[in-house]
Amino acid sequence: MVIAIIAILASMLLPALGKAKARALQIHCLNNMKQLALATHTYSGDAEEWLPPIQALLPQGGGESSWRAYLFPYVGKAPRVYDCPTEKEEVYANGRPSKNRPPSPWVLGQFVPGEIDIASGIGAVNVHWTFGGAQPPFGRPAGYENNLCRTPMIEAPSQFLWFGDGHGDAFGVWPQDRWWIWKEVGQANSPGFNRLAQGDKGAVRHNRRSNYARADGSSSLLDPARIPCDTNACWWSAKADSH
Ligand SMILES: [Zn+2]
Repeated sequence: MVIAIIAILASMLLPALGKAKARALQIHCLNNMKQLALATHTYSGDAEEWLPPIQALLPQGGGESSWRAYLFPYVGKAPRVYDCPTEKEEVYANGRPSKNRPPSPWVLGQFVPGEIDIASGIGAVNVHWTFGGAQPPFGRPAGYENNLCRTPMIEAPSQFLWFGDGHGDAFGVWPQDRWWIWKEVGQANSPGFNRLAQGDKGAVRHNRRSNYARADGSSSLLDPARIPCDTNACWWSAKADSH
């Protein structure tokens, strides 16, 4: 009898504990993104208002580095900030470029070949569409599209996504590149981007929703199907002209 009651109580309690844990992980992830948004503002203040490139060629050659290396000094050199705590395999702080390669923690946050290959659970936003001259928040410097963005280009910082739960590559074309949110399916620069339509697992990481940090430093859990991307509003891109 007592055992039966305990079993019933446990069956009531365990789902509640599971939900509480999931909620704690989601808030942890959101806090990481807040730190990244703050770091981006500080970086921008030190860099004549430019945002960090999403990726850039290393000056010494040998490869590329990612936005994470630019922000590393501004997050207290804490690599955990780049990870969503629900992500178990693609963890930046592990320093492991892929499951089959050994960890190399010495490349974390550094401008060295290999840094860009390390996956992480949180991605910078590189989604955009060009109608009206829109441009991604985290662009790429000369040598690519030369579409870097400056903070004065941001017209509505509270409606402009900088970071989100990553895992952006729906096709696995670049399996290590789990550090951005990227438009892969359909016409590359058309409105209507929807991570759910792309089958992006990162879009549903937290109970069918995903975390985002915006340019005003605010952050929240959003339904990925309801993030505006049309002619009235696009939370994935900045205007091309500052005014
Ligand atoms: Zn997350």
